Amino acid sequence: MVELKTEAELAVMREAGRVVANALAAVRAAAAVGVSLLELDEVADDVLASAGAKSSFQHYHPHFAPTPFPAVICASVNDVIVHGIPSEYRLLDGDLVSVDFGACVDGFHGDSAISFIVGTPRPADVALIADTRDALEAGIAAARAGGRLGDVSAAVGEIGRARGYGIPSSFGGHGVGRAMHEAPSVPNEGRPGRGLSLRPGLTIAIEPMFMAGGRDRFVTDPDGWALRTVDGSRAAHIEHTIAVTGSGPVILTAP
Ligand code: MG
Ligand code: MG
Repeated sequence: MVELKTEAELAVMREAGRVVANALAAVRAAAAVGVSLLELDEVADDVLASAGAKSSFQHYHPHFAPTPFPAVICASVNDVIVHGIPSEYRLLDGDLVSVDFGACVDGFHGDSAISFIVGTPRPADVALIADTRDALEAGIAAARAGGRLGDVSAAVGEIGRARGYGIPSSFGGHGVGRAMHEAPSVPNEGRPGRGLSLRPGLTIAIEPMFMAGGRDRFVTDPDGWALRTVDGSRAAHIEHTIAVTGSGPVILTAP
């Protein structure tokens, strides 16, 4: 069931979203060549603690995973698309890093992800990240009352396909609220004019994830969490939680 949020609930979700934005900014500032993924997890955990917020990710145990998620961030490096478990791995010059983070404040969640490069960027990675951001922005712009959910999915997918990227079809956006993942599901491809009618109070995460190699297939690591491109090509993932309102889409996880 799709739960529309009241103005008061949206205000709480904005608070959760602010904690998410602050944590991602802190992680981005700390990420550098030689820093480990576990150290980045600690940075985000400190922001959670000082905000008095709870992690949406830690102990989260969806049906597809063999074990609960053990950290507060997902840290997905290079050919890892999403759901990377933070490890002792230390970032190398030129690594493409995607960090996904969720926080819960007063029972409501926010969910957002950033992709960035540490050290010397490769031009193809800069383009991949810019294109993924373009797709997110197009998806957000399509999240207008009176439209359909398919408008959002189509806006995201059209940019990914036009620029030659692969899209992992079984993972994408979702409703956000009292649960981090709730109805509706927001695929990264779709048909305009189809699907759920968008109404004020609908809160969804839009999260394009594109694979540079152009293939849609991916493999799951032995840990049951990290998704990797089959061809070793790099992937980017950028996400915001947004609200559909009477005056257009509002980004709840904006800084
Ligand atoms: Mg996320
Ligand atoms: Mg999400």
